[in-house]
Amino acid sequence: MFRGALFRRTRTLLAKRKDPSVKEMVEAHLDVQHKAMGKVAIYPHRSMTRPVLPINVQDVTSPLFIHRVLELTKLAQDLDCVSFSGPKGHWDASVVFIKSDPNQAEFDVWVNPEIPGYDDRTSAAPMYGMWENCVSCGACHAWVIRPQRVTCTGYDQHGKRKQQVLGGMLARCLMHELDHLSGKTILQQTVGPEFVVSGVAMAQRDLWPANFPSAEAYMTGSHQFFDYVTNTTIVPQGLEFWYAQNTSSQSFQDERLGR
Ligand SMILES: [Zn+2]
Repeated sequence: MFRGALFRRTRTLLAKRKDPSVKEMVEAHLDVQHKAMGKVAIYPHRSMTRPVLPINVQDVTSPLFIHRVLELTKLAQDLDCVSFSGPKGHWDASVVFIKSDPNQAEFDVWVNPEIPGYDDRTSAAPMYGMWENCVSCGACHAWVIRPQRVTCTGYDQHGKRKQQVLGGMLARCLMHELDHLSGKTILQQTVGPEFVVSGVAMAQRDLWPANFPSAEAYMTGSHQFFDYVTNTTIVPQGLEFWYAQNTSSQSFQDERLGR
């Protein structure tokens, strides 16, 4: 009887509830993103241009630290970011959050991350090139060349020491955020001013002059790596869906332009 009463009540509630339309869901998501954007530091805000302070590892278990980590991961999730760092959320702290792809449920947290030899610009390590964008750099997409694999040392969110060899998007995201910790963005790490383009320009690469701004940057689309070892483009693991979405919108635009 109790179950029956519950069933009747649930059925009545369900009948009254109107499922949101796709338009309403998209609008609600955009509203969440818009509110979250208000909390992000945008270049050249001072958070984006000065190095952070290392964290005292004893503070990692403090309620304030845990609260701020939760606050920033929520912000990164609301913005659909695959990586985030303290400075982007106006927090002057050496903390980085990374995912290997947008479908990974939780962020990997790095406290005081360091990559030995990262600033060695004469390194002969295998490199990938990629058009990167950043929630703190507006519509800019910049061509950035980074090592394919790195070894990172630091601490997790419980203050436990960790060391990990990272490849693919995890390595790329970690290095992108590590740059923020030293007050740098993709605008400082890119090859030159002509290697910074807008998101709209990225979707219209078919209109670019041949080999602009370089042969490898020209042939590399969004969500792709250019492998400087094999001289070919590859889609990083986990980004296959996003890459396919991008190419389908590109061919749609091509079709319209051809008419
Ligand atoms: Zn960034």
